[in-house]
Amino acid sequence: LKNDQLDSWDRENFFHPSTHLAQHARGESPSRVIKTASGVHIEDRDGNKLLDAFAGLYCVNVGYGRPEIAEAIADQAKELAYYHSYVGHGTEASITLSKMILDRAPSNMSKVYFGLGGSDANETNVKLIWYFNNILGRPEKKKIISRWRGYHGSGLVTGSLTGLELFHNKFDLPVEQVIHTEAPYYYRRDDLDQSEEQFVAHCVAELEAQIAREGADTIAAFIGEPVLGTGGIVPPPAGYWAAIQTVLMKHDILLIADEVVTGFGRLGTMFGSDHYGIEADIITIAKGLTSAYAPLSGSIVSSKVWKVLEQGTDESGPIGHGWTYSAHPIGAAAGVANLKLIDELNLVENAGTVGAYLKKTMQDGLSDHANVGDIRGEGMLCAVEFVKDKDNRIFFDAQDKVGPQVSAKLLEQSNVIARAMPQGDILGFAPPFCLTRAEADTVVSATLGAVKAVLG
Ligand code: PLP
Repeated sequence: LKNDQLDSWDRENFFHPSTHLAQHARGESPSRVIKTASGVHIEDRDGNKLLDAFAGLYCVNVGYGRPEIAEAIADQAKELAYYHSYVGHGTEASITLSKMILDRAPSNMSKVYFGLGGSDANETNVKLIWYFNNILGRPEKKKIISRWRGYHGSGLVTGSLTGLELFHNKFDLPVEQVIHTEAPYYYRRDDLDQSEEQFVAHCVAELEAQIAREGADTIAAFIGEPVLGTGGIVPPPAGYWAAIQTVLMKHDILLIADEVVTGFGRLGTMFGSDHYGIEADIITIAKGLTSAYAPLSGSIVSSKVWKVLEQGTDESGPIGHGWTYSAHPIGAAAGVANLKLIDELNLVENAGTVGAYLKKTMQDGLSDHANVGDIRGEGMLCAVEFVKDKDNRIFFDAQDKVGPQVSAKLLEQSNVIARAMPQGDILGFAPPFCLTRAEADTVVSATLGAVKAVLG
């Protein structure tokens, strides 16, 4: 197809997610057609080669163009493209993958339920928790607490769990069963004199007060990403997770660790839960499970949750929750090949070491800049936050769009993709785990150039 044909069909027919719809239809935003990719680079139809320092949407963890995964998908499609997984049906790929996931997950985890993406996996989690409490005879224990700036998906319940107003406004969300609490975002604390320890105590006090207000017997679960992702790439302050877990245990509130971004190595450990000593009752996985070579997600449930779910079906028959594509064989085959590759290439370790190098090099190059307030990260996640006045921590006005300007300049000047995070002036980096030090250097020098061009 010719470029103008593709452009006009795109604008006429294609309803893009997370896009300014009117602008795109009017031709005011770019129509970029990606044609091929290899390693950390993607290539568009015009032959422009771009270094993707966000791994798609932090998902192509093993890097692009891996023949091992492509061949596993092709072989599976030829042998058996689809059969469902209801009433005990499975495939060698889905059964093998469930074993591989449990072998890697924290030791209290017991079973995995497969879905398609992170949003549906979190919908599943909420339903499982409601089912769990119904079986235990406490149906009023239903509310879910999530954090402001958390990201947990775009559905009705998951969009509610997401603590970003863009996902609520004009959709009549959040639903009434969801409440939000303070994000563990030390750099944006209200009281600049607070130490990290005092800030953690403040987050805990707020959570305790909310639980007291609502009544612990109405609260089913707390959901959080080990490191806040879309809300700004924010590692928690030291001691945060231990302190939160103490409160949850005291009030018999389950914990969902949303590891859609952090699962399978992004923090330099197999799970973010391993990194922070989180003992979750349910873990959400998606993206890195297949490195996005095929859609697949999962809800890993602990033995504690599993025992109750099992008991429920003895009482009332099959669980009324299933997707046509649960454990899709092609997704499962991609997952098996992906997890093997992560082991063979030692990519979890690389995510830790090269990720630390990326953050350190970024800090060395940019910390002194008058408009760079914070450079943070963990493993292969890094963020640069821009401020108008660093000493007094005064943020830019939203309409200045400094983050989007820097990311656009980075692309224009250096063909490097980073993500302007949706709230605040934050440039996010989440490269594939196979990033080399030389590629990290390219990302950092390109970022310095873009920051200089936009902010001087
Ligand atoms: N949870 C987290 C932590 C995410 O980052 C995302 C997506 O970015 C989701 C859930 C939703 O996943 P999906 O977009 O596959 O539905």
